Amino acid sequence: MKQVDILIIGAGISGSVLAERYASIGKKVLIIEKRNHIAGNCYDYIDENNILVSKYGAHLFHTNEESVWNYVNQFSDWYPWEHKVIARVDDKTVPIPVNITTVNRLFGTDINSEQQMISWLEENRTPIEKPANGEEAVLNRVGSVLYEKMFKHYTKKQWDKYPAELDASVLDRIPVRYNYDDRYFSDTYQALPQGGYTQLFENIVKHPNIEILLDTDYFDVKEQYTGYEKLFYTGPVDRFFDFKHSLTEKLEYRSINFVSETINTEFFQENSVVNYPGTEVEFTRIIEYKHFGNQKSEKTTVVREYTVDEGEPYYPVPNPRNAEIYKKYKDEAEKLLDVHFVGRLANYKYFNMDQAFKNALDLFDTLEKKDKITYKTAG
Ligand code: UDP
Repeated sequence: MKQVDILIIGAGISGSVLAERYASIGKKVLIIEKRNHIAGNCYDYIDENNILVSKYGAHLFHTNEESVWNYVNQFSDWYPWEHKVIARVDDKTVPIPVNITTVNRLFGTDINSEQQMISWLEENRTPIEKPANGEEAVLNRVGSVLYEKMFKHYTKKQWDKYPAELDASVLDRIPVRYNYDDRYFSDTYQALPQGGYTQLFENIVKHPNIEILLDTDYFDVKEQYTGYEKLFYTGPVDRFFDFKHSLTEKLEYRSINFVSETINTEFFQENSVVNYPGTEVEFTRIIEYKHFGNQKSEKTTVVREYTVDEGEPYYPVPNPRNAEIYKKYKDEAEKLLDVHFVGRLANYKYFNMDQAFKNALDLFDTLEKKDKITYKTAG
């Protein structure tokens, strides 16, 4: 067996960042990746219509973290992209997050100031002091009519659960705006990598100290790779422990069935992402990738997203029952001093991309500082 210092399972954000950090201090790193490509769920490629599309759904980078922004800028040029989402509700098209335009279009009101919007919300929302779940979070913010029209059924389609069965944090991802701001995010930095995410990750892991083994399931070969200093595991936490705490109650994940279609027209829809929060269709949203970076092509590619229970795990399902099961795995994970669990699936947390970058960078800093102190004391 070849000697490696750092063994990393998974070539997504967490795995790639840790590989780059350890390679930069002279460690020999091996990444073992189950899929036939790097970049995890950020993976994108040029499709048959000459359009850069993401295999696992649109990824919009946004952050307030200066350190993360500086880090990603070392590996790609980025162009500004302020993401917008519209939703088809009843037979109208409205911005999401809810803003002044959303309310005016849906209810025929004539709100034209922040003050009026606040008054409308005060009349319509159901104040709940400490929202205990997703339903209460939305009722508290925008009230029952918007809850029904824009959140209840979308959530059921996305999670196969109603908002009341999910943590408030899931629905709290979507704010309400008192003005006309129709951007999906309000972070300081909002941008997309020129040349795509796959290229960004190629640049992150491009280092003579980094070797990548694709198409390899770690659990098939783990006996061959035992002499490491540290192991970073970024896959589903329950898989690592052979699902031992899931015999009676399974830790839940949501997967997505991406159904792609070429349409022989310049554009199919007026925006990159159109949400369908109603029950009239089974998919949650349609993505038209051509809009990102204003790509040119005679045809267009659209992808409908249907979320499903089975398939590759993309989303942990944040609610008290899953938290309880996850806790058992977490306790077990903490006992393994040379194994670190990092990222969305290993931490069972609904991270955004920038949080995944930050966690990996912070973990490296913490571990390296600790190692240096131990070394100093020992020496
Ligand atoms: N959501 C909704 N209606 C929408 C958009 C979002 O009810 O039109 C809810 C839904 O439960 C979703 C959550 O808000 O899972 C978070 O949305 P986000 O866009 O952050 O989800 P992601 O892009 O990560 O799938």
